[in-house]
Amino acid sequence: MKWNKAVLSLKPYQPGKSTDEVKRQYGLEKIVKLASNENPFGCSEQVKKSIQEFSNSFAIYPDGYATVLRSAVAKHTGVKETELIFGNGSDENIQIISRSLLGPGKNTVAATGTFSQYRHNATLEGAEVREVPHVDGDHDLDAMLAAIDENTAVVWVCTPNNPTGKYIPEQKLRSFLDQVPEDVLVVLDEAYSEYAVAEDYPRTNHWHNTYKNIIVLRTFSKAYGLASLRVGYGIACEEIIQRLEPSREPFNVNTLGQVAAVAALSDQEFLETCRAENRKGMEQYYQFCEQENVSYYPSQGNFIFLHFEQDADEIFQYLLKRGFIARSGKSFGFPTSLRVTVGSQEENAGMIEAIKGFL
Ligand code: PMP
Repeated sequence: MKWNKAVLSLKPYQPGKSTDEVKRQYGLEKIVKLASNENPFGCSEQVKKSIQEFSNSFAIYPDGYATVLRSAVAKHTGVKETELIFGNGSDENIQIISRSLLGPGKNTVAATGTFSQYRHNATLEGAEVREVPHVDGDHDLDAMLAAIDENTAVVWVCTPNNPTGKYIPEQKLRSFLDQVPEDVLVVLDEAYSEYAVAEDYPRTNHWHNTYKNIIVLRTFSKAYGLASLRVGYGIACEEIIQRLEPSREPFNVNTLGQVAAVAALSDQEFLETCRAENRKGMEQYYQFCEQENVSYYPSQGNFIFLHFEQDADEIFQYLLKRGFIARSGKSFGFPTSLRVTVGSQEENAGMIEAIKGFL
């Protein structure tokens, strides 16, 4: 086969174990999965109702322009409908951006210790990936600026950052954007922004009016609890959206996803409850860390990054055998850290007890 060199440089796909498999393997009755930053409270009742009431034919293709959802997101964010792009999750929007802007001879700048799909997609496109070491879980924005050259096409900024939970305060982010050359696209991946409560967490809905070279990515997978339906959106100025559109699959967002996302947006009360519960859960972990002297990063997401002295795989396996699934920090380049999604208070208490057993 005449595979692309970039394809050959990537590891083959490794399916994760299903919770049923884990149950069978370890003889467990119950599994608490706090590994993928999903919403432990599911989704809004309004979403369930909207799906139950859905009566259109499944034989009909989805609306490729996501007209109703587009209008709902435009209203919710206060941006123009033409300033939005929809993806099959943020994952697809990351792919669309990479397909549109990256390729051999180009480079892209990202932090180490961040979401892996930036590197993955850039590599697939044959671009050079310039990974700038994080500083204590934070993006080193000055070093990222220094890494930009005339061949840089895209810079990735994840805030709150997965897996560290750290965020970039408004002034710092503005000063960074002021210095990025205008012909470099800055992607602000805000997958967890709905969870952020810090006062100086930037609210960027209108920043594309000031910074013409940014795109803000959001998703319905996290706080809105729709990970399985795969809906994400990007906000950017019209010129950027128009350039990205050709790389999007024509029917990328499925009909149920569109219906559910509209219903999800209409229930901001649910979101508020999830945000408040998430902060309570975060406090459970903070307290545990303080009491047990476990080091951690304060988080603005719905997950917390804990640091241990032992190998991350060791603690991961220890928890797994007891029915608690977390995420090892190894694949993010943190060999002794563990990312734990904040679950319900009961799930958190269970996870904390299990971790205590390891210490
Ligand atoms: N960006 C970040 C930072 C994420 O953590 C994730 C999900 N793990 C995504 C994007 C992709 O989200 P989606 O489900 O919308 O594809």
